Amino acid sequence: MATPVVATSTFGAGGVHGYGRYSNPTWQALESALGSLDGGTAVTFSSGMAAVAAAQAVLLSGIDPSAAMVVPADGYHTTVALLAGLGRPLREVSMADTEAVVAALPGAALLWVECPTNPLLQVADLPALCAAARRTGTRVCVDATTATPLLLRPLEMGADLVVHAATKYLSGHSDTLLGAVVAGRQDLVDQAVAHRSMYGAIPGPFEAWLVLRGLRTLPVRLDRAQHTAGELARRLQAHPAVQRVRYPGLPGDPGHRRARDTMDGPGALIAIEVHGGQDAADAVAARTRLWVNTTSFGGVESTLERRRRWPGERPCVPASLLRLSVGLEDVEDLWDDLDAALTRP
Ligand SMILES: *Cc1c(COP(=O)(O)O)cnc(C)c1O
Repeated sequence: MATPVVATSTFGAGGVHGYGRYSNPTWQALESALGSLDGGTAVTFSSGMAAVAAAQAVLLSGIDPSAAMVVPADGYHTTVALLAGLGRPLREVSMADTEAVVAALPGAALLWVECPTNPLLQVADLPALCAAARRTGTRVCVDATTATPLLLRPLEMGADLVVHAATKYLSGHSDTLLGAVVAGRQDLVDQAVAHRSMYGAIPGPFEAWLVLRGLRTLPVRLDRAQHTAGELARRLQAHPAVQRVRYPGLPGDPGHRRARDTMDGPGALIAIEVHGGQDAADAVAARTRLWVNTTSFGGVESTLERRRRWPGERPCVPASLLRLSVGLEDVEDLWDDLDAALTRP
């Protein structure tokens, strides 16, 4: 039933596989599963950032180095830092502001979208952005880490590449880092493979096996976590210590309608801003007992963190913002712990 962990650096000459930096049967099983979920062909990497690095290199290869890039103002901060480091002009816009994104496209070589964005959970109008990018000859990459292919399939909407940090929901157990680039066009797949073979940011066979194992339960994990997130978001909205709740599943959220039209669910991340600023938010994160105060998301255990504790976090992220990753615990246990942490003086 289970694909084995094929732990070998090299393969006997004359077979399907040659050398461990070029291909591996355990990666292939994972890539086949992930590719079919996204409606394309997946190429796996050693981390989400390795996939980000490969995706931008593939889409910008051979393109005039002075051509600009359009990037999300509240995108994952390491990605924005990587793109900013390329030396090309950077146009930072909110991906939720379709008009602003479209206005920034003429002359841009690459549109980098995150949907929903991490950590503000803003939802982009992907069909409209991909259509506009096609008109200006701008290539589109969508980082769909927070959504997973179960909730968002950007290739179907016209994106050139999709990136996933499989580190999060796809592996699902907070025990491995892995990334993937998914493409519809074979030339882009070939370029992603060539990039991996040359730069060597390959996944370990064991890590690929762990993600493959995680994928088997992705629908039930995500379904449960999303359901709990919806309930918690509704309760948080009414909590006196909470100033704002960002969750596309809430009818009052700016991304609600768009998420309903373009996604198969709002996901299991919630961002809240608490009254009292940074210190109040730090105190909440320090007081929870069931929710673990840690970075990353998408595991079976619920976690939270104040995002601006990282010096590199985007300045548009409020200092009092806590990102909550809802896991699989009982909803009442999660609420009791959160309510107590928010309420205690
Ligand atoms: C975590 C994350 C990444 C980077 O993934 P790593 O596996 O940590 O390198 C990229 N994009 C988004 C949206 C992420 O949340």
